[in-house]
Amino acid sequence: MNILFNFGAHQPMIKALLNERNAILAAIVANSDDTIISKTLDGIIMSWNPAAEKMFGYLETEAIGKHISLIIPPDRLEEETFIISQIKAGQKVAHFETVRLTKFGTLIPISVTVSPVVAEDGKIIGASKIARNISEQILLQQEKARLYEQVKTLSERQNEFIGLASHELKTPLTSLNGYLQILEKTSGDQKSKHIISRAAQQVKKITALIDDLLDITKIQAGKLLLTTEANNIKRIIEDSIELMVHVHPEHEFKFRTDIDALSIMLDAQRIEQVLVNLLTNAIRYSPSSKLVEISLEVNDNQVIISVRDQGPGIPEDKFELIFSRFYRMQESGTQGLGLGLFLCSEIIQRHGGKIWVESKLGEGSTFRFTLPLQAN
Ligand code: ADP
Repeated sequence: MNILFNFGAHQPMIKALLNERNAILAAIVANSDDTIISKTLDGIIMSWNPAAEKMFGYLETEAIGKHISLIIPPDRLEEETFIISQIKAGQKVAHFETVRLTKFGTLIPISVTVSPVVAEDGKIIGASKIARNISEQILLQQEKARLYEQVKTLSERQNEFIGLASHELKTPLTSLNGYLQILEKTSGDQKSKHIISRAAQQVKKITALIDDLLDITKIQAGKLLLTTEANNIKRIIEDSIELMVHVHPEHEFKFRTDIDALSIMLDAQRIEQVLVNLLTNAIRYSPSSKLVEISLEVNDNQVIISVRDQGPGIPEDKFELIFSRFYRMQESGTQGLGLGLFLCSEIIQRHGGKIWVESKLGEGSTFRFTLPLQAN
């Protein structure tokens, strides 16, 4: 607030207007909820409004004529030197957060804005201060920081637990798988072999779920590492489709591409994980259709891979949500943990690519992802 004292004006009308303006300013200052103080360049208090009385406990009569150090804690006196140096240079000090001392010895956190007071001849003759008590704001900030830390700790513990539990579950599953393999080899009759193979499939499903959980804990801990090398992307897609055909022979997987072979830097295992995930979803969420179409094309220094199904489609307001951790659409039934697409998106982002869905309700969904042709 630059206050200009225009006492050089001689015309009575201008003078009357100025008087009126000063009366208005005085009323604003007197009624302000903010503390408004003015002082000379030597730090002598010149004005002290009712809000200042309320904030610091000193009456106007007690404060005027005293040095501003009246309300400055001794260990903060050099702040005044800094503020005055800024004011002398014609600079405003805005929203300076500090602590001031009341008449009763209590400290209050305030945010203060100090501006030069300029006389008619342009000379800086003092400073005006507007101060606001920020105790509540600070309490809120502290509470926010405390809650943030609490949530962070809980999330770390949850992550630790998921990691430990997954490891504990994986060991007996590996043994179970081994025993099933031995049984399959040693069992003579066809019926037993069939039952053992069904049991092995279920063990595989649980293992895949546990692997997803382990991957999540790795992502949370920043430990999901990629092992990238030059790989033929077309080959990886074909391998993933072959894997799916083996498990879902009743489905038709149509792969369309003009590309013969294309080598790019990627983590083959992780990209296969993405593809298997998208292909599994295409089957899982399209119960009344058997066709899944896959395509690979090159566009603008990147490859675009898409997986299209004939399912019920996804509403537009869920396009982003389905890629978040543990998110599942209500109508999706009880299968799955809601981790697949989150993992896909992490893996693709770490490759420098993008993943998204295009869909219209009743017209199926197309999941697309890109991979850069050149490694980042
Ligand atoms: P999960 O399949 O384990 O639930 P995902 O992260 O793979 O987890 O998918 C999240 C949600 O997105 C699914 O629960 C489902 O509601 C929806 N979704 C994924 N793929 C499709 C799809 N092809 N068609 C319709 N909905 C899908």
